[in-house]
Amino acid sequence: MSNNDFRVEHRYLELPDSFYTRVRPSPLRAPRMVCFNEGLADQMGFHTDNPEEWTRVGAGAELLEGMDPVAMKYTGHQFGMYNPELGDGRGLLLWETVGPDGRRWDWHLKGAGTTPYSRFGDGRAVLRSTVREYLCSEAMEGLGIPTTRALFIISAKDPVRRESIETAAALVRVAQSHIRFGHFEFAAHHEGPETVKTLMEHVIALHFPQLIELPEEERHRRWFEEVVERTARLIADWQAVGFCHGVMNSDNMSIIGDTFDYGPYAFLDDFDAGHICNHTDQGGRYAYNRQPQVGFTNCQYLANALLPVMDEDDVRRGLRCYEVAYNARFLQNMRNKLGLLAEQESDLGLIMDTFSMLHEHRVDYTLFFRALSNLRAHGNAPIRDLFVDRSVADEWLRRYEERLDNETRPDDERESAMRSVNPKYVLRNYLAQQVIQEAQNADYEPMKALLKVLERPFDEQPENEQYAAPPPDWGKHLNISCSS
Ligand code: AMP
Ligand code: MG
Ligand code: MG
Repeated sequence: MSNNDFRVEHRYLELPDSFYTRVRPSPLRAPRMVCFNEGLADQMGFHTDNPEEWTRVGAGAELLEGMDPVAMKYTGHQFGMYNPELGDGRGLLLWETVGPDGRRWDWHLKGAGTTPYSRFGDGRAVLRSTVREYLCSEAMEGLGIPTTRALFIISAKDPVRRESIETAAALVRVAQSHIRFGHFEFAAHHEGPETVKTLMEHVIALHFPQLIELPEEERHRRWFEEVVERTARLIADWQAVGFCHGVMNSDNMSIIGDTFDYGPYAFLDDFDAGHICNHTDQGGRYAYNRQPQVGFTNCQYLANALLPVMDEDDVRRGLRCYEVAYNARFLQNMRNKLGLLAEQESDLGLIMDTFSMLHEHRVDYTLFFRALSNLRAHGNAPIRDLFVDRSVADEWLRRYEERLDNETRPDDERESAMRSVNPKYVLRNYLAQQVIQEAQNADYEPMKALLKVLERPFDEQPENEQYAAPPPDWGKHLNISCSS
């Protein structure tokens, strides 16, 4: 490792020691580098000519000077039930580094072996799930949606038992923070108000510097509002791009508003408002159309944890910001997707009717909006072809054309703006599944090729047309469970 440009600042260790347990990673055998994110490493101040030199760190066989791995303690609500027994069960916070641009990065080694919070788990991660997480975090980054990032994956010889025996792997996930709503629930329900306050000040000091100087009460109020608003905006962004998270437990909610913990997620193909991407979520608690409400419920859990240290009215007012921020962001996102610059009262009706139509006729969500972004450029045939009943498309297009009559922006400008918000390429589950199969046969090139496409999801990439295709029959209803 040469010419590095970072400093180590393991600030999490400044929290009371009930928030963590020091744990050494349990090394994996015969590790191999699967994929290394050189662009991200560069940004973070780690310049490497040879990613292989990171393999032993990923395998938990080597710690760099300054790494002091801890398993973080948190609790949280899982499927509506409070679970006090949570915490990093297979991941370790290795250290925090600050890069040349002043950005702070938590390094989290996922799959590092058991910790005191593992309960019955084996502390391991499998190649399938680490590849899914890597792909989706980088896809989200490409889409401009806040997310944790993937720095690298290693795979290893150790067999890991899931529904079948799978390849062991580990992922180094990085983010500005790994602190979750569940950290606050732990502090409130098991430690007490002083600890909640300490955690709150820690988060503000590291991640909300613009609030530091404010008087205490205002600082806390503004901070909570900001967390609630970030959460609302994040979920409005998910809805607009057709992303279904799948496990929106409060321990999977990032306090800085990142998309966090990629498990059985999905990007919708044929639009189904009630889509449930998590095979184990039988009641559909985390179905696509429930995500906005669940985001609010999670903010309520956070609010409960803050009540002992905050003014009750401030908490209540903070919660109210959710709906306002969600509605504003969602409406803006959808206006952008439809290319509507002039704001009209009737737009919300058009948007909701569009969703109903896509749902009723099971139209591919991504293809629809992309085709609409080329309506003048390519004509209406690509849109009509997405419908079994073309007359439904025609009727909708008539209404849309009428609405466009009220726009003053030139057509080509509108459509180019629409193409910058309506992705051509999203991480459809079947695409992920294909590269996972190749990776399991130790061919990592297809994964890298897919990542290159997802880096520029809004660009036409004529050589990569095949990645924009809707799923083949085998890829339509893949069962993705929590077991990872
Ligand atoms: P998740 O559903 O991914 O949010 O995980 C919920 C909890 O289960 C977290 O505390 C994880 O650390 C823990 N966990 C998940 N998989 C394992 C595993 N293989 N071994 C130990 N703990 C795990
Ligand atoms: Mg989790
Ligand atoms: Mg998970």
